[in-house]
Amino acid sequence: MNPFEALLRARRAEILDAIGVSSEELAGIRFARSDGTADDEHDPEGSTLASDWSRITSMHATAVASLDEVDRALERIADGTFGTCVTCGNPIPDARLHVRPWADRCVTCAAL
Ligand SMILES: [Zn+2]
Repeated sequence: MNPFEALLRARRAEILDAIGVSSEELAGIRFARSDGTADDEHDPEGSTLASDWSRITSMHATAVASLDEVDRALERIADGTFGTCVTCGNPIPDARLHVRPWADRCVTCAAL
């Protein structure tokens, strides 16, 4: 098994947890907003809910994007292209993959 696969699978589990938590929080805010006690315009709690909402939706979007990166890395392990830069075709150094196992470009290409 590719040594990075375990790292990616562990990362995937963390991301799924984060997505689960943010989904629950968003559902809670949606409920608080819809029960009539939180009026965004007149209730001071409303602005808190609105800022929570934007903070959590942005965390949620980040987690979903990370999950996509991890899934694509797992696909590259399956098809044998993992560890090869998708842009220049050179190997991605292990040191970089240890930090970002989902990296699909070498440092040079990622900086372009
Ligand atoms: Zn490259």
